[in-house]
Amino acid sequence: MNTPWGYPDFDAHEALHFVTDAKSGLRAIIALHSTHLGPAVGGTRLWHYADDAEGLTDALRLSRGMSYKNAMAGLPLGGGKAVVLADSDRTKTPAMLAAFGRAVDRLGGHYVTAEDVGMSVKDMIAIREQTKFVAGLPAEGGDVGGDPGPHTSLGVFLGLKAAVRRGLSKDNLAGLHIALQGAGSVAGGVARHAAAEGARLSIADVDGARAQKLADETGATVVSPDAILGLEADVVSPCALGAILDAETIAALNTPIVAGGANNQLATPEDGERLQARGILYAPDYVINAGGIINVSTEYLGDGDASLVRRRIEAIPERLEQIWAESAATGRDPAAVADTMAQRLIGRG
Ligand code: NAD
Repeated sequence: MNTPWGYPDFDAHEALHFVTDAKSGLRAIIALHSTHLGPAVGGTRLWHYADDAEGLTDALRLSRGMSYKNAMAGLPLGGGKAVVLADSDRTKTPAMLAAFGRAVDRLGGHYVTAEDVGMSVKDMIAIREQTKFVAGLPAEGGDVGGDPGPHTSLGVFLGLKAAVRRGLSKDNLAGLHIALQGAGSVAGGVARHAAAEGARLSIADVDGARAQKLADETGATVVSPDAILGLEADVVSPCALGAILDAETIAALNTPIVAGGANNQLATPEDGERLQARGILYAPDYVINAGGIINVSTEYLGDGDASLVRRRIEAIPERLEQIWAESAATGRDPAAVADTMAQRLIGRG
């Protein structure tokens, strides 16, 4: 018999909930990786997986990633994630959202959901009808809440500057060439901040019109999505997809620094070592891209205002410095160092 305990990505997850609602057709998995630091917070992804095993793997990996991200951001939160196993049309009905909301509610606050791929703020508002354990809703009255994108962008920008300080001994981005993969929410914010500081930008997006629009706004050059990672640049900033750094793309990199907001940039843990072996400074993704969850957390817990969100985001460079310092001292690559630090923080050191 196959059980989740035997899965390669099973990492002592505290609980896995398999949700079925025959009436609406909802099938979902809610994975709670760790509640050591607080309720397990992480978004819900609605996706059509090739099979259920792929969905389970995603839930296991993503929930562990949230534990690490929340812990490294200094938040009083654990890590969890939900995946909705959608059909090939990615059908999403009000009845399914309501059933999902009820399933989250039954967990009594051990899991708190938010938006992820395939889910919108509108969906979160619908889920909110069934449960209070939802974060990432539009700001109401207070000044914290709403779109996490700009907060993620700010953290990535500050982390990128920290990498430039460490790797290139420069205090600002003036005249530096930054290659941005993606022209969406996170990349857009990074591009605007970097352009305002005088950086020279190259931008690629599979949506050419989107890339052009951002380039027009920031004075950037549009390049082809196939060329962006290999461009000669001071920094390559992946802000689109995961798993883009592998043996092939790392060998073709022409930059001393990789610092961007995309989740799960390394295809495998060995790719962290590959970057290190090539002398490329890497900013671990879940550390540099925590600005959004910092805002979501502050909104959900109601434990601070916009200035606290800002201070928490401004602490991201310091955390990266600690990782790079330990990496330099031990010879371990920054991604591995970050994982070990995060494991210690969630009581698994
Ligand atoms: P988005 O959908 O706004 O933008 C992503 C962009 O990437 C899109 O314009 C898309 O066309 C483009 N893209 C897709 N494939 C590409 C390719 N092969 N080459 C170039 N461009 C490609 O998403 P976003 O919110 O900006 O998120 C970007 C990344 O950052 C994702 O990995 C996401 O998981 C991560 N992230 C986002 C947040 C947030 O607050 N939005 C927080 C943490 C991490």
